[in-house]
Amino acid sequence: MRITRLDAPGYERVERAEDPETGLVAFISVHSTTLGPALGGMRLWPYRSEDEALDDVLRLSRGMTYKSALAQTGLGGGKSVVIADRDQKTPALFEAMGRFIEQFGGVYVTAEDVNVTVDDLRAVRRSTAHVCGLTTAEGGGGDPGPYTAYGCFLGIRESLRMATGSGLEGRTVAIQGTGSVGRELGRRLAGEGARLVVADLNEANVERVVEELGAVAVDPEEIYDVDCAAFAPCALGGVLNDDTIPRLRCAVVAGAANNQLLDEERHSEALRARGILYAPDYVINAGGIVNVACELVAGGYDEDVALERIERIPVALREIFAAAEARGLTPQAAAQHLAETALARGRPEAST
Ligand code: NAD
Repeated sequence: MRITRLDAPGYERVERAEDPETGLVAFISVHSTTLGPALGGMRLWPYRSEDEALDDVLRLSRGMTYKSALAQTGLGGGKSVVIADRDQKTPALFEAMGRFIEQFGGVYVTAEDVNVTVDDLRAVRRSTAHVCGLTTAEGGGGDPGPYTAYGCFLGIRESLRMATGSGLEGRTVAIQGTGSVGRELGRRLAGEGARLVVADLNEANVERVVEELGAVAVDPEEIYDVDCAAFAPCALGGVLNDDTIPRLRCAVVAGAANNQLLDEERHSEALRARGILYAPDYVINAGGIVNVACELVAGGYDEDVALERIERIPVALREIFAAAEARGLTPQAAAQHLAETALARGRPEAST
């Protein structure tokens, strides 16, 4: 395996690996270990170029730093991406990825992300111990998806209450992406009487939600035009941009996808200008990382502890919305300010 260190100002350590034997081409980015080891999932995606993959891993790892800082997980921010299609997944590919992760000596710890499952992580674990998100029988906290969905559900309910003063009963929520998080989120929302409009590129995923939850399916391109109380992006990043924001017909944007704003500053301002309340993605989607972080606490994983910590997400959102209001900032800018303050304070033990 050939490993190359890349120059990425503002990041602690970024490396590229290429392993001709297994076909692995991957990047690991450690953005910050100021608050602890850099924990962040592994994404497998058929990026069109290495630049695109690198850009993604850099943005995602930085987001993880802020996410963990605000969720107080005691972790730093990192991420990894593998350039491959789902049908190129093999145990040997993930074992090679494990060897790459092992080179970081625990500075980077991995878990699931898009297209990477518990089974895949089991193969990674054959080459490195720095893996979270395995099943409870294996000492892990399981797939983080449902925990992300739970936090997201609580966050949507809170955001809607802040924006409109009312609850979910009878309100429409448009969900973009009905995968691991979107489907479970739909279940929770439907349980509170919300009406669901959904879209996904994967027809089987949409059909399941239509059948199970009575959701109405729309074409993936039409999800931005749905008249709804909340729009929940739960697919990929960059979906809030110059083309989509003018089309939105919602009071709130609150969903699980990472890096929803194509340009953080400009597009969070554009949402505010349209009177749409935006729940910063790395705050509302922290449930998964909070659950995973609970694997690392002394005494091992305890689901009750994880759920109690996830239930702080709406509290964190309330604080961010209040800080934004008080300082005349967007919620995104207020969240960033709070995260940077936490990073500047450093690890609790370092300040004593
Ligand atoms: P997933 O792969 O299970 O589901 C994503 C779904 O989005 C898939 O069904 C896919 O077909 C669909 N999709 C992709 N592009 C689309 C498009 N243009 N329009 C409509 N649908 C589209 O992934 P997931 O675990 O559910 O994660 C969803 C998002 O949430 C990702 O951005 C992920 O990074 C983020 N996230 C996930 C977690 C977690 O715990 N799984 C935690 C934090 C953030």
